[in-house]
Amino acid sequence: MTMEKGVEDRGTRHPSRVTDVERAKRWRVPQGAIYLLEDMCKGCGFCIEFCPREVLERAEHYNAKGYHPPEVADPEACVLCGFCELVCPDFAIWTERETTETTEEPHHQGTKTPRTPK
Ligand code: SF4
Ligand code: SF4
Repeated sequence: MTMEKGVEDRGTRHPSRVTDVERAKRWRVPQGAIYLLEDMCKGCGFCIEFCPREVLERAEHYNAKGYHPPEVADPEACVLCGFCELVCPDFAIWTERETTETTEEPHHQGTKTPRTPK
């Protein structure tokens, strides 16, 4: 699976996203996406607890370490604030904001359009 076009880095280089984005679980949310490397999660629940919109909940299944990872229960409620990413001690969860693509031609500075004679 490759990352969809239109979703890009929010600015900070998250250690996990560079190499592991293809292994991560991915949920679409209104302004972008939430990624999770389940097997890096130690089930501390910080991301669930600190999410201001109650987007995340504890999954019923176990990861490879024997913990319950988070899962996105209410994607529409996510405001992409990044708190879940900020509080995760294991770099297991992160967010990426969707970009709006533009079809505008690049602006060439220093080139003048010749005037058409009247
Ligand atoms: S980005 Fe913010 S609103 Fe969305 S899941 Fe993470 S903490 Fe919750
Ligand atoms: S904060 Fe990180 S380690 Fe803790 S439950 Fe969430 S994803 Fe797992």
